[in-house]
This record gives sequence, C-alpha cells and structure tokens, in this order.
Amino acid sequence: MSAARHPAAQAFPIVGGEVTVGGIGLSTLAVRVGQTPFYAYDRQLLKARVAQLRSVLPKSISLHYAMKANPMPAVVGEFARLVDGIDVASGAEMRVALDAGMDPHEISFAGPGKSEVELAQGVAAGILFNAESMREIRALAPISQRLGRPARVAVRVNPGFELKLSGMKMGGGPKQFGIDEEVVPEALAEIGRLGLQFEGFHIFSGSQNLRPEAICEAQVKALQLAIDLSRHAPGPVRTVNLGGGFGIPYFPGEKRLDLAAVGEHLAGIVQAAKTDLPDVHLVIELGRYLVGEAGVYVCRILDKKVSRGEVFLVVDGGLHHHLAASGNFGQVIRKNYPVVVGNRMGASRLEKASVVGPLCTPLDLLADRMELAEASPGDLVVVFQSGAYGQTASPHAFLSHPSAVEVFV
Ligand SMILES: *Cc1c(COP(=O)(O)O)cnc(C)c1O
Repeated sequence: MSAARHPAAQAFPIVGGEVTVGGIGLSTLAVRVGQTPFYAYDRQLLKARVAQLRSVLPKSISLHYAMKANPMPAVVGEFARLVDGIDVASGAEMRVALDAGMDPHEISFAGPGKSEVELAQGVAAGILFNAESMREIRALAPISQRLGRPARVAVRVNPGFELKLSGMKMGGGPKQFGIDEEVVPEALAEIGRLGLQFEGFHIFSGSQNLRPEAICEAQVKALQLAIDLSRHAPGPVRTVNLGGGFGIPYFPGEKRLDLAAVGEHLAGIVQAAKTDLPDVHLVIELGRYLVGEAGVYVCRILDKKVSRGEVFLVVDGGLHHHLAASGNFGQVIRKNYPVVVGNRMGASRLEKASVVGPLCTPLDLLADRMELAEASPGDLVVVFQSGAYGQTASPHAFLSHPSAVEVFV
C-alpha cells in the first residue's frame, strides 16, 4: 500500500497537488504557522470522529477523552465541548481539563504514583480518582478531612486478563497499573472504612487494538469483573469505566477497526449491566482513536543525499518531535508510518527514499526506503496519523534543535 493511498491520507483532500489541512494548502499553512516543523490538527476531523462514534455507540455510554494522547489546550477545549468527560494522568493535565471548561464531575484522574499535591488538587477540584494503590486510598483520607469534602474514588483494577493482541498491554499479570483483582475487596473495605465517596471501577486493559473480537471480549470480562467485585463495594457502583483500546491503522496492511461491530456488542453490554448494576453509568475512554487520525506532522527537506545508491532526504524534524513515527515508541519491529511529500501529490516521478532527521543517530528515521514523489530541498514531508502521542511523547531536548509548534485548524 503506498502512503498516498493509505486510509489516513483520504481525510486530507489534495488540492492543486498539495495536501490540505482544515481546507488550507500545505505551503500556505507552513507560511501561516511561521516555521517548520509543525503539527497541525484538523478540527472538522475531530468533530466527525466524535459524531461517528456517537452514531454507533449506545446512547447511554459516556465517551471520555484520554487527554495524554494530545494535551494541546485548544484540542482539549474542543473535546470539552464534544465528549462527556476527560481522563487526565497528572495534576498539570487536570489543570488543562479544568481550564478547558470541563465539568470537574466528569474529569477522572488515573495513573500510578499520584503525589500528595496531586491528590489534594483533585480533591479540591472535585474530580474522580481512579485509585491505583492502597497508598493512594489511604492518603486521600486526611486530605478529605482537611478540605472538608470526601474524595471521589473509583478503584482501578488490574484484571487477571489482558487485551489480546494489543499494541500495549496495560492489565493482566504483574503490572504497575491498578490494584490486583484479588486485593480489590480489601481496597473497597478500606474506602468504606475511611469514609471516602466510592463511585465504581476502572478497568483498562490495553491500547491500540484493531480487532473488534478482542475489544469486545475484554469489555465482557471487564463488566463481569465489576459485577463480581460489586459484592464487596461499600456503596452502589455508579460508574464502570470499561477502558477503550480502539486502535487506528498505522502500518501497511492494517485495516480500520470495525466500529459497527464494537457498537453492536456494547449495546449487549449495556443490557447486561442493567440487570446486575442498576445504578451504573458505563464509560469508555479513548485517546488515539479520537485524535490520532486528525493530525499531521510536517517538516521541510533541507538536504538530499545519495549514499551508495540510496537516497536520503534530510529534514528539519525527526525523532525529537515524533518519536512514534521513528519507530521508537513501543514498536517491536520498525514499520513506516504513512509518509508523503505533501506538496508533490500525484507527481509522476517517484523515487525510493529514506526520510531522516538531523540528529546524530541512525534511529532518527521517519521513512525507511519508501516509494515517494521525487523531492528536493524546500519540499514538505507529511507524516499522517500524527494527532496522538506526537509532540508531548517525544524527547524535544535531544540534540537541542528547535521545537515543533502545534496548530489547530
Ligand atoms: C493512555 C490511556 C488511555 C488511552 O489509550 P489510547 O490508546 O490512546 O486510546 C486510556 N485509558 C488509560 C487509563 C490510559 O492510560
């Protein structure tokens, strides 16, 4: 599959031989931004993605945005209007979500190792904690007393199962995330004893999954686990966060997730939940599925070299801005993201070339021997599928080159 025909590319129409983002041609956008490299996120694509999910998911399921995927304040602000809740993973992310106007009641805070300051921030704000350890639960008690309001707590469960064939496993077996299923009854008793406000369970077992069967199986198991554990709960189970894990196609041969299949299945889960957990409110939390396909990373070719017959396009961006596209953010075997020369779309002359950044390491590789339009210095390279885990998931300071900027168009 050539990158130009990658499903990701279709979301960004080609006008006059250029990729457009938010209706703006790439060269014009580069001038508007004032520099390369940059990330550009498309507002209409975010809206369309949320609308698509809403049309397929059961109405009663709450859709949350896991903002670590893309914490740009303007993006979070848009999501605050579009989705039902925001999941944060640090005190600083919580501030951005609150600034974005999200109702604190609909903000939840997960992640191991929450500091005393973060716990106090969250209690003061009135957000929901997904507790990851007994230490967190115990630490919330004196804070609640001091502030005169009980902390809202859900227990993040490390289940006995994992999300099969996930890009990244985050549950099952020994893990730093959540409280082991076997220990949860003890944690629930402690929440009751300390007088915290118990709200439910959070069961997130993995991420970047393209197989509906695997996602559905994990959701069935998560719900069953919540039902089983509810017998030990100090109060009614009001929310069960079933996780998410919806993946997007990055690499050649990967197919889009069959969202309709997941939606149909979730309708069954909603029914099953009604019988056993009548007060419950089901949540799914998505990061990359909401934002990953709405963003591109753009950098400019500085130099073109031929080394022993192979072409290298040296660009002004690279691994330091986009670690994931370089293959160094969790991939086991490096594969190419969809990459094009964005101002030479539909060019008749193609050339096999590698796109490399300016860092002094062979890891700084954005495209490895891809079929690209024949390009020269000054041309703009576009990396699709870059809306999630890009800018803030990359080691900016490495080699002290200028940072990329982000725009939301
Ligand atoms: C990172 C994370 C997510 C989002 O994962 P995506 O693959 O971006 O959808 C959701 N929930 C939790 C708890 C996370 O840590």
